[in-house]
Amino acid sequence: MPLLQQRRRVPPLDARKEVTAGAPITPLAVPELVVVPLRQHIGESCHPTVRVGDPVRIGDVIGDSTARVSAPVHASVSGRVVDIDERPHPLGGTVPAVTIENDGREEWTDLEPIREPADASPETLRAAVRRAGVVGMAGAGFPTAVKLDPPPDATIDTVIVNVMEGEPYLSADHRIALEAPGEVADGLRWIMRMVAAPRAIVAVESDKADAADALERALAEAGLAAEVRLLPRDYAAGAEKILVHLVLGREIPSGGYPYDVGVVSQNVSTTVAISRAIRHGRPLVERVVTVAGGGVERPGNYLIRIGTTFDHVLTEAGRRDVTDRVIMGGPMMGIAQGDLSAPVIKPTTGVLALAPDESRHGDEVPCIHCAWCVEVCPIGLMPYLLVDLTRTGEPLTATAYHIFDCFECGLCDYVCPSNIPLVDVIRAGKRAIREARA
Ligand code: SF4
Ligand code: SF4
Repeated sequence: MPLLQQRRRVPPLDARKEVTAGAPITPLAVPELVVVPLRQHIGESCHPTVRVGDPVRIGDVIGDSTARVSAPVHASVSGRVVDIDERPHPLGGTVPAVTIENDGREEWTDLEPIREPADASPETLRAAVRRAGVVGMAGAGFPTAVKLDPPPDATIDTVIVNVMEGEPYLSADHRIALEAPGEVADGLRWIMRMVAAPRAIVAVESDKADAADALERALAEAGLAAEVRLLPRDYAAGAEKILVHLVLGREIPSGGYPYDVGVVSQNVSTTVAISRAIRHGRPLVERVVTVAGGGVERPGNYLIRIGTTFDHVLTEAGRRDVTDRVIMGGPMMGIAQGDLSAPVIKPTTGVLALAPDESRHGDEVPCIHCAWCVEVCPIGLMPYLLVDLTRTGEPLTATAYHIFDCFECGLCDYVCPSNIPLVDVIRAGKRAIREARA
């Protein structure tokens, strides 16, 4: 198991958050068509529960699965289903998606809030979270109801709410914490109850002092056994493994989970979605997304319906000709988009339209064995070796070097003087191993 190590020689990342961090959340114009993928989460894909021609209201279930590790998907506009077919997906390739023509009426389904959540059992609360299709909104997309149901032999003593958001440009979580601190506190209350945790820590980067103040007040009003912990700004500190170590000094074992060390962590936007699922029965049909980069005239934090295409997002934000690359997520961990008809999904934290001077990679040249990638890896992996093994057709050997512990933070990629796309290759290595094992 690689040990969490003291990292060295990481050049400071240019956060570039000033433009959007001060911008209040603004609704983006709802498109005439939404394309809602039946896979927006880790686990089993959903199967469609509607047919072409069916009328739908906002919040109607349009896809579901009986698998434990899955989450239903819902209509994000009212109107009519006009297509169910393979469509481009922002994580690559195509997946089945339900296309809905918006009738502009904004009609909602009948919501099922929990009337007396304080009296509800943890199972009832989790069922509400699952019904609402809540998944991890920081990028991973793991079904939240499953995360809130740790194994019976795990004793959870601490919940961590993650407000770190270290990726450059992104500030959607910051705005959520600032604008909805009461709902963060409310969601945290139900998380603590579901996992039977006696205390909580809300981890906030030191450059978000305004959010920390708002959260402190909300937690005090809610009377929760929770503290706000301000942590130094450090790009990788928001990664679950690193955060648990930083906050509690506990090391999650290789291949393990936070519950192995008594912790459940939740991203702040997900925490708000949990509150809305329980209090209002509100499904996850929209989210706050940072839209930024030199390729847009009106960067900001937009409230965007799930299924809105990147093309529509960029048009509404004032697309400029200078765009070199469009990325879903942040520039470090995000996924470059080849087809802008792909839609915003539940884990979409950002849509970045980067101008050439904002893109990191020049032409790749051979590895010079400087070991800089090793020095910066927060969990002590050997990225150059993982890449070498993948490229020479031996990805299975990379499992012995903990390839699956790589959480794709992008730091190795960022410092590599040879411009080797280490994370892309490591991702490909993981895919090859999974396929070989299937
Ligand atoms: S992959 Fe890049 S950073 Fe790592 S040893 Fe090679 S040149 Fe250096
Ligand atoms: S992306 Fe690179 S630096 Fe980050 S965890 Fe993976 S190997 Fe380590």
